[in-house]
Amino acid sequence: MQVLLANEYGFCFGVERAVEMVEEAVNAGDTVRALGPLIHNEQEMQRLAHEGVTTISDPIQIGRLETAVIRAHGVTPEVQKELEELAAKVVDATCPFVTRVQKLAARAAAADRHVIVVGSPDHPEMIGVKGYAPNHAFVIKDETEVAALPRLRNPLVVSQTTIKVKTFFDTAEAVRAKTDDNVEIINTICSATKDRQEAARALAGMVDAFYIIGGRHSSNSVKLLGVCKEQCEKSFLIETEDEINAADLDGVATVGVTAGASTPNWLIDKVVKHLESIGRDQDAGLKP
Ligand code: SF4
Repeated sequence: MQVLLANEYGFCFGVERAVEMVEEAVNAGDTVRALGPLIHNEQEMQRLAHEGVTTISDPIQIGRLETAVIRAHGVTPEVQKELEELAAKVVDATCPFVTRVQKLAARAAAADRHVIVVGSPDHPEMIGVKGYAPNHAFVIKDETEVAALPRLRNPLVVSQTTIKVKTFFDTAEAVRAKTDDNVEIINTICSATKDRQEAARALAGMVDAFYIIGGRHSSNSVKLLGVCKEQCEKSFLIETEDEINAADLDGVATVGVTAGASTPNWLIDKVVKHLESIGRDQDAGLKP
């Protein structure tokens, strides 16, 4: 049985960078506390907890001798300031793609322009971005919410980094139709989610079974499962190698593997090794 990995899988650039920055702080001997879960993967959170990394839900919980971590989603300037005042050190792991949206929003607000951000208002990334354009930013889900916006002053339209391209451009066009003022549209969607889905789709059409490694509550992993199922009926979402049922691989010649953007490499390696050992057992004529 051949095990094939998708061309793009696992940690996105921003998550990998955040985990590396945390590791660096731990290795320097810091007591590290992340504001909000650093990553949506239980196994990786457990590994980090073993290294002494804990999570706080409010800046007030940080100790004077501790290191605070701002995760990839970013925070408002107020929260950043609070952490800087309270903690011994702040590790800012805001993904550079998110920082770009924050800076664009801040620049437009400083020119007294409105900022329309297409995304989920409750998402931490959106709460952070809105904080960079106080009294100037509106976070809206899609074009259906444009009509309810007030009169807009030379609006800038940007996006949450993980939304669908069509949602962004449909909303941007609705904003353009709403005002006679100049509308600036900047697509700030990051390609990580799309790249993983396209790579999974391409591989799923070539294999007999597919394993997607990721948390059951990770929305990008659940979406990957949907994409794979369209091409390969035997697609399974698993969190660890223990969930693989060898009987599902009876008569399977090729198996594909991908992983959500929060799944660490060590977890992916374990799954691949386990699949390879099932393949060797099959070759040796051993039944599951
Ligand atoms: S999905 Fe994109 S924007 Fe979000 S953390 Fe990953 S690389 Fe950064």
